[in-house]
Amino acid sequence: MDFRDSPQEGIFRAQVRSFLDAEFPAEIAAEPVEWGLFNGAGRASPRYRDFMRGWTAKLNQHGWAAPAWPKEHGGGGLTVKEQFILSEEFAWRRAPRPGGIGHGWAGPTMMVYGTEEQKARYLPRIISGEDHWCQLFSEPGAGSDLASLQTRAIRDGDDYVVNGQKIWTSGAHVADMGILIARTNPDAPKHRGISYFLVDMKTPGITVRPLVNMLSSHEFNEVYFEDARIPASALLGEENRGWYLATTTLDFERSGIATSVGHQLIARDLVAYAKDTAHGRAAVAERPALRNELADRAIEARVESLICYRIISMQDRGEIPNKESSIAKLYSSELDVRLAVTGMHLAGMHAQVTDRGYARSIGGRLPRFYMHSTTSPIGGGTSEVQRNIIAMRGLGLPRG
Ligand SMILES: Cc1cc2nc3c(=O)[nH]c(=O)nc-3n(C[C@H](O)[C@H](O)[C@H](O)COP(=O)(O)OP(=O)(O)OC[C@H]3O[C@@H](n4cnc5c(N)ncnc54)[C@H](O)[C@@H]3O)c2cc1C
Repeated sequence: MDFRDSPQEGIFRAQVRSFLDAEFPAEIAAEPVEWGLFNGAGRASPRYRDFMRGWTAKLNQHGWAAPAWPKEHGGGGLTVKEQFILSEEFAWRRAPRPGGIGHGWAGPTMMVYGTEEQKARYLPRIISGEDHWCQLFSEPGAGSDLASLQTRAIRDGDDYVVNGQKIWTSGAHVADMGILIARTNPDAPKHRGISYFLVDMKTPGITVRPLVNMLSSHEFNEVYFEDARIPASALLGEENRGWYLATTTLDFERSGIATSVGHQLIARDLVAYAKDTAHGRAAVAERPALRNELADRAIEARVESLICYRIISMQDRGEIPNKESSIAKLYSSELDVRLAVTGMHLAGMHAQVTDRGYARSIGGRLPRFYMHSTTSPIGGGTSEVQRNIIAMRGLGLPRG
């Protein structure tokens, strides 16, 4: 394939670069970014929080807060290739981009299946950053086998009454709204009795309980529904067709290029640690095999970018990546772990210090990334499940 931009794409890339030159302040760019967050978020300073308030509005002037969304819904209406260029350029600068469940799931699914009223009510609030959304899918007994979910929503007059428990709900404690899938027909085959709802998280009967991870960080939650009444107007699409909505993926850019660029930057940081610091040089002198490990990581980060280019070139031709998305997810999430492990090898005992001022653990980013990386091969579909998909759809092997 030809990796070069077309003349038009080149003009667009130059536009994105000059926007970042003009609008992304050097002092924010210079602040350390957490390694596990590839959307450029996660700087720690109060100055960064102030900056973010104006940044979404600035991006919105170009439609770049939701570059993939059609213009009629307040997005940028960019082609998949332009979205790819935007993601790539922002990632190289570690410039923050709005995103998450609202932009990536709730909004797009609503665009296809929502009523005019639902679209008018919720889409502008996602774009402006007023509403944060969470995804209420997984349950204690339904993760990989999501269609086994047991949370019930029973129609009662103009409402549905919801009972059940969700788990691992990222950001539920700060979310205004949630996309919920719940069983509306227990007698139907499991994929056919599920409905999809847009739920106000302040509804009485919804309780959010924190799950604190090993980083001592509160990112996900358990969410309990106890006779929570949600209006029938919260149903998205048809009753009992929710499974098909939940698996909707739109023709948006989903190559993973931002993560791939993030990995290349981490590999570069690790090499700089090994070359440019006295403790890094000492570690490599003591364990020469670390050089080979670093070489492997640098190669793998480049290989990952080629997988992303393959996906984007398919999308650009109007094809829908299938096993290719599983290959990308598997490779990328396991590279997260390998990069983190190499970093730990390099820093040795010092890698245990999470203090932000501690240079030998790269300001604590190394151990935090290491702990964070353990979740990558689980969230969004586990490595085992991705391998099953690749074996069946990619290699034509029988179901195990
Ligand atoms: C960081 C993070 C954030 C998350 N955020 C959200 C969120 O916001 N909303 C939400 O709804 N969920 C969220 N999840 C949950 C996530 O979707 C589930 O953890 C995931 O689907 C796996 O389900 P499970 O944890 O129930 O594991 P299980 O499905 O119980 O799997 C347990 C083990 O069995 C293996 N296994 C399962 N089935 C098979 C099979 N058929 N073949 C081979 N091996 C198999 C798995 O690979 C795994 O090793 C999040 C998870 C993480 C880690």
